[in-house]
Amino acid sequence: MTSAQAKRLILVGPPGAGKGTQAKRLLDQLRVPHISTGDMLREARAKGTELGKKAGELMDRGELVPDEVVIAMVVERISEPDAKTGFMLDGFPRTRPQAEALDTALEKAGLALDAVVLIKADDAVIERRITGRRADAKTGRIYHVEFDPPPPGVEVTHRSDDTAEAVRKRLDKYHRETAPIIPYYRSRGLLREVDGLAAPDEVSARLLEVLGAKA
Ligand code: AMP
Repeated sequence: MTSAQAKRLILVGPPGAGKGTQAKRLLDQLRVPHISTGDMLREARAKGTELGKKAGELMDRGELVPDEVVIAMVVERISEPDAKTGFMLDGFPRTRPQAEALDTALEKAGLALDAVVLIKADDAVIERRITGRRADAKTGRIYHVEFDPPPPGVEVTHRSDDTAEAVRKRLDKYHRETAPIIPYYRSRGLLREVDGLAAPDEVSARLLEVLGAKA
């Protein structure tokens, strides 16, 4: 790892831009934990916790979980020992208050963000991508029924919020609530942009490039 390599990172972009897929692909090179609020909420839901039940209903409708809930979750998670040297946030922050709360928490700890990477993708492609998305039930690897079909015999799951209706709602939320955090980071010189419509290998290579890491 070089000293120029960004270590406290945020991946931002519309649902289905490839944030989760890319974060998993880059784990070996970046060597920082992948912290996905969506994964954490799905885990809470699978465990049947009170938080999981409440969040699950909102998630299925494509609504956002309240700021205070996700902020508390992330602030606690980034203070764990494995996140001391850095982290890759995926799906957080999703609103301006979340972005501000993250800054406050980092400032208190004497830390700062290194980079925010925007993975860009058009709404038109996203709906097709998301509704065909499936995950390997064992490994979590992402497939697409049309573009990258799972091999025969692999058991796959379909996220309950990957329906056309929920996707439209999630895109609407993204444009209204999440997109406004982009200028917030751009004005501080933290923003890097990557075309999420390129092939996954190209997106990974470009991500490593903008983060100052070697493939
Ligand atoms: P994701 O896996 O990032 O697409 O997130 C799935 C769903 O979890 C979202 O549609 C929201 O309902 C919820 N969620 C995940 N992260 C956040 C967040 N930072 N703020 C609010 N809701 C979130």
